[in-house]
Amino acid sequence: MNFTGISSLLRSCILCLVFILMTLGCTKTESKRLIVTNGKVYTLSWANPAQDGTPSSDAPYEDGVWSPDAEAVVVEGNRILYVGSEQEALEYKNNMSEVVDARGGMVIPGLVDSHAHPYYFGEDLGKIELTGIKTKTKLLQALKNKAGTDLKAGEWVLGFGYDEGNLSVEKLPNRDELSEVFPHNPVFVIGTHGFSSIANDEALKRAGITKETQAPVGGEIIKDENGHPNGIFLNNAAELIEEVLPAKTAEDFKEIALYGMQVMAESGYTAFHDAGTNSDYVNAYQQLEDEGKSVVRVYAMLRATDSALLNEWYKKGPELQTGEMFTVRSVKAYYDASLGVRGALLLEDYSDKPGHRGISGEDYGFDQEMVKKMMSKGFQLGIHAIGDAGNRDMLDFYEEVFNEYPEAQRNRHRIEHAQVVHPDDFSRFKELDIIASMEPPHMAEDMDWAEDRLGSERIKGAYAWRTFRQHGVPLTFNSDLTGSDHNIFYGLYAAITRKNKNQKPEGGWYPSQKLTPEEALRAYTSWSAYASFQEKEKGSLETGKLADITILSIDVLNTSLTNPDKLWDGEIYTTIVDGKVVYNKFDQ
Ligand SMILES: [Zn+2]
Repeated sequence: MNFTGISSLLRSCILCLVFILMTLGCTKTESKRLIVTNGKVYTLSWANPAQDGTPSSDAPYEDGVWSPDAEAVVVEGNRILYVGSEQEALEYKNNMSEVVDARGGMVIPGLVDSHAHPYYFGEDLGKIELTGIKTKTKLLQALKNKAGTDLKAGEWVLGFGYDEGNLSVEKLPNRDELSEVFPHNPVFVIGTHGFSSIANDEALKRAGITKETQAPVGGEIIKDENGHPNGIFLNNAAELIEEVLPAKTAEDFKEIALYGMQVMAESGYTAFHDAGTNSDYVNAYQQLEDEGKSVVRVYAMLRATDSALLNEWYKKGPELQTGEMFTVRSVKAYYDASLGVRGALLLEDYSDKPGHRGISGEDYGFDQEMVKKMMSKGFQLGIHAIGDAGNRDMLDFYEEVFNEYPEAQRNRHRIEHAQVVHPDDFSRFKELDIIASMEPPHMAEDMDWAEDRLGSERIKGAYAWRTFRQHGVPLTFNSDLTGSDHNIFYGLYAAITRKNKNQKPEGGWYPSQKLTPEEALRAYTSWSAYASFQEKEKGSLETGKLADITILSIDVLNTSLTNPDKLWDGEIYTTIVDGKVVYNKFDQ
C-alpha cells in the first residue's frame, strides 16, 4: 500500500468517525425528554443524618427549616440528565420533550415499599365484592344482582368480604338457600377475614364433599341435624372448595400482577419488594418486563416454601445487575408468627398468657438447610421474625451461616419486622450487617394491646426504630400491604409522631423512638435502595441515576416539623418510573 492509499484510508476513517459523532449528536437532541418544573426538589444527594437524626452539615437544613436543593429535573430516556434550576432545565427542551408541572409540590426520589404483597389487590378481580353486608337477605340479594342474568351454565359465582362480625355462622345462608338463588351455577363466597365461607349444592358436588368428608387441620365443616354438610365452612375448610375452583392461567397471573403494580403507582410508589413471590408471579413479573408492560419496579423475594422455585434459582444464581424492572435476588422465609395472635416467639412467657411463648421454626415452615443453600449461592435472605426469641434465633442462624460462608455476610441480609428485640441484640444486627425491615403502621395498629402481650420492660425494645438507628443498624420501611395501609403519608406520620390514625396518643407512644422527617423519608427511598443493592442506581436525584421520581402535594419535611397532623392532607401528584409518567393525578 502506497502513501496515498494510507491517507485515503485515514480520510475515510475520519469521515466515518464524523458520521458516527453526528448520529450520536442527533439521537441525543432528538431523544425524548421529560422536564419536571415548578417543584420543590429534594434530591437526598447529601450525606445521611447522624444516628440521633441530626441532619448532616451539607443538608439543605438551617434553623429548623428545610429548603429544596433544586427546582427542576430533566430526564432523558430512563435516566436523569440534569437536576438544578428551572431556567437551565428549560434549556434542555427539544421538540420531543414533555413538561411535567409539579404545581409547587415536593419532588423526591421514587418511593419504595420494601415489603409488600400487591398482588393480593388483584386476586379478588372478577369476584363479587360484599364488603359491609351484614344480613342474609342482603347477601343473597347482592349475589343475585351482581352475578347478573348472563351467567353461563356451570360458571362459578365467587364473592368475598361479607361482615363476619354480624353474619355469624347461624346467620349465614346455608347450601339450600344459596341453591335456591343459583340452582345451576356453583357458588363460593368467603367472609372478610376468611374465618367463614359458604357454598351451594353445585359447589359441594364439584368438590366431592359428603357426610364422610373430613375437614383439614385448622378447619371445620358445619353439619345439619342429619350430619350432612350444610354449606358453611370455617377457616381452613375453605380449601376443600378452593381446590376445585378454576385454575388461574398465566394470563390471569399477569393481569393480577399488573393490577397490583398500578395500585402501587397510583400510591406514589416507583418500586416494591415482593415479600414472598411464588413461581406463578415470578413468571408474571418476568413476562411483563419482557413485554415492556411493567408499571413499577419489582424486587422479588422468592417464597422459601416453594422448594421447586428455589432449586431452579439456585441453579441460575441471583440477578446481580441493577436497574432492571424486575430483579430476583432475594429469598423470603418465615420464622415465627404475629404478636396479635400470640404466635411471635418470646424469650419469656407472654405477659397476658402465662406458660405460653409463641410458635416457631420448622413448625412454621422454616427450612434452614434450603435457606442456607440459597445464601451460599449469593442470595439475600429476608426472614420474618417478630418476637425477641424469634429475632435472637435468627441472629444466631445468620452468625452460624456466616461462620460457614463468610462471603455471605456481604449480601445485606434482612430481618423482616424485627418487631420485639432484646436489649442485648440490637448491636448484633450491626455486627452481622443485618438490615431491620420494619413497618411504622404496625406500631400504630398494635399500640393498644402490644404492652399487654409484652409487659412494661420488653415493650421498650418493640418497634424500636431509634434504638436501631443509635446502634447504626440500616433501616428500611414498608407497609406489609395488604396487611396494613400503604398510604405513604400514614407511614411517614406514624414514623415521625408515633401516633395512630386517630392521631393518638398526644405526644406519641414511646416517643423516644420517633424518627426525624428526613430519616422517615430516607427509610422509604434511599435506604430502601440500599436494601435492594440499588443505591448506585436510585434513591437520590442525581445526573446519571434512574429516573424514578415521586411528586407529592406537600413538602413532607417541613410539614412534619411545623404541623405533622397536616401530613394527612398529602396527596400523590405524579409517579415517574424508568423515565415514564405512570400516574398523574391531573390526567385522570
Ligand atoms: Zn409480609
